Amino acid sequence: AAKDAGRNRFSYFTPALQVAALNRMRLTNDLRGAVKAGQMELYFQPIVHLRTGRIHKAEALVRWRHPLRGMVSPLEFIPLAESSGLIHEIGEWVFQESARWIQRWRTDIHPEFQVSVNQSPLEFQREGGYEGWMRLLTDLGLPGQSIVIEITEGLLLDASNAVTKKLLQLRDVGIQVALDDFGTGYSSLSYLKKFDIDYLKIDRSFTRNLAPNSSDMALSDAIIVMAHKLGLRVIAEGVETPEQCDLLAQAGCDYGQGYLFAKPMPAAEFDAHLRGQPS
Ligand code: C2E
Ligand code: MG
Ligand code: MG
Ligand code: MG
Repeated sequence: AAKDAGRNRFSYFTPALQVAALNRMRLTNDLRGAVKAGQMELYFQPIVHLRTGRIHKAEALVRWRHPLRGMVSPLEFIPLAESSGLIHEIGEWVFQESARWIQRWRTDIHPEFQVSVNQSPLEFQREGGYEGWMRLLTDLGLPGQSIVIEITEGLLLDASNAVTKKLLQLRDVGIQVALDDFGTGYSSLSYLKKFDIDYLKIDRSFTRNLAPNSSDMALSDAIIVMAHKLGLRVIAEGVETPEQCDLLAQAGCDYGQGYLFAKPMPAAEFDAHLRGQPS
């Protein structure tokens, strides 16, 4: 009974916000050491060439298997990793793990296989960093071109010198850049020209509402035409239906990614998936 009273008092006097804050603190604490404890897992989702249906690219998506809570979404733990500084350790792990798989897939699947790796603004703005990546890639016999770094528009909006410098350094070593979730931020088309981006990923909020003659179709059409004129290739995110896929292909979109093709899957499963593609 005393225990019950204690619990009631707890819930009565603790506003929901405080509970959420406590939850974040606990999770952040658990996140320390999660990499070393082997709790991170890397999933891959295919990026499909729409004209041929071939898979020569994939996006790496990190997962955290919490010992008590089970799978925690990156939408929940990446912000905690950022505010605690743990993001750098996680990012390094994601990059190393990705490079290991790319080496296999370049050897066994396609010589130009590429993996895209997400970078939060904090990671991208960090001085250097890419030197370590290049050492790792070189050790594995991989060129910079085997990696695409996915960044978001916000980063370009307040493009500090650090961002501009990093983009130039990546270009020098051959690492490519994709603009993720395009259309959700303050999309400024002039950035596409100014910054020498390789891929533009149309956000899934556009893909979701694609229908002939819809405004999202008009926008997607225009984005694709413009991107091509600027020499970028276009990847549509969140392709879930054959109709969306057809409309995007008709509009000249280069690649599609989404549940229609496959959900993100554990690396070993994706490896088997690749080996199963008809040649
Ligand atoms: P994102 O980079 O935009 O990744 C695409 C997200 O959309 C993934 O969510 C993917 O599972 C989901 N998705 C793919 N196809 C479909 C579809 O057809 N329908 C729907 N509804 N969703 C689809 P996920 O894996 O939960 O990742 C969420 C976000 O977390 C990513 O968004 C990315 O911003 C971030 N993230 C993931 N891995 C990393 C990482 O290694 N480092 C950093 N910094 N961020 C990461
Ligand atoms: Mg991404
Ligand atoms: Mg995205
Ligand atoms: Mg997203």
